[in-house]
Amino acid sequence: MLRVEGLSAWYGEAQALREVSLHVDAGEIVTLVGRNGAGKTTMLRCLMGLHGSYGRTVGTISLLGEDITGLAPHRRARRGLGFVPDDRGVYATLSVEENLTLPPATKLGLDPWPLERVYEAFPRLRERRRFAGTKLSGGEQQMLALARVLRTGARLLLCDEPTEGLSPLVVQQIGDILREVKAAGVTVLLIEQNVHFAATVADRHYLLAEGRIVEALDNDQVREREDELLDYLGI
Ligand code: ATP
Repeated sequence: MLRVEGLSAWYGEAQALREVSLHVDAGEIVTLVGRNGAGKTTMLRCLMGLHGSYGRTVGTISLLGEDITGLAPHRRARRGLGFVPDDRGVYATLSVEENLTLPPATKLGLDPWPLERVYEAFPRLRERRRFAGTKLSGGEQQMLALARVLRTGARLLLCDEPTEGLSPLVVQQIGDILREVKAAGVTVLLIEQNVHFAATVADRHYLLAEGRIVEALDNDQVREREDELLDYLGI
């Protein structure tokens, strides 16, 4: 689905990514784990084509075997890339339903999720459908941000730390939603600091340190090394 080769990125003179190579296969959930400042957000911005407004990149990114390295963000979105940013990007003055009906369908993505299907998967959003974005809790905003990308028919979701700051119950709900998203054939690359959660929801993991991939881990390795990883991540 996604293949990244030799990706480096800079902010001015400061290098944030160093020759990162990774892949995500169709139908997988893969996490990017790393300390604050390791380069995780920069990685997602590069994949979505958003790093250009910050600085320079080299390397190649391909989606479904096609080189998308030079494409603008909206063209990547049309090919089925969906970005769920860490600030969630919910339109604060619009209602939940307006947020859900705004995004256009992608041209080369999966079938966009109809509103009814979104409400089945996210019953909380149905209850809140007339509420303005500002009136939502952090968890509800996260659900709305995820649902909005599914409405476009995205085939690969890039999620920047969807569980950050959420209560354990809501984290569990986000996990259920991600599993449902995967069952619907959507592939996910996820930034995640909660390694316990990561091992319950994802298939594989990459550990990023100082802009490099230092380890590729499977779930058993993450579970065996959970304490060490939490210590390393400073959590
Ligand atoms: P966090 O979880 O804290 O967001 P991260 O792993 O996502 O961390 P990035 O945000 O990608 O890390 O940051 C990687 C490096 O790039 C850091 O050294 C950071 O200070 C730097 N950086 C990030 N954004 C900018 C920016 N807009 N301008 C300059 N440097 C930046």
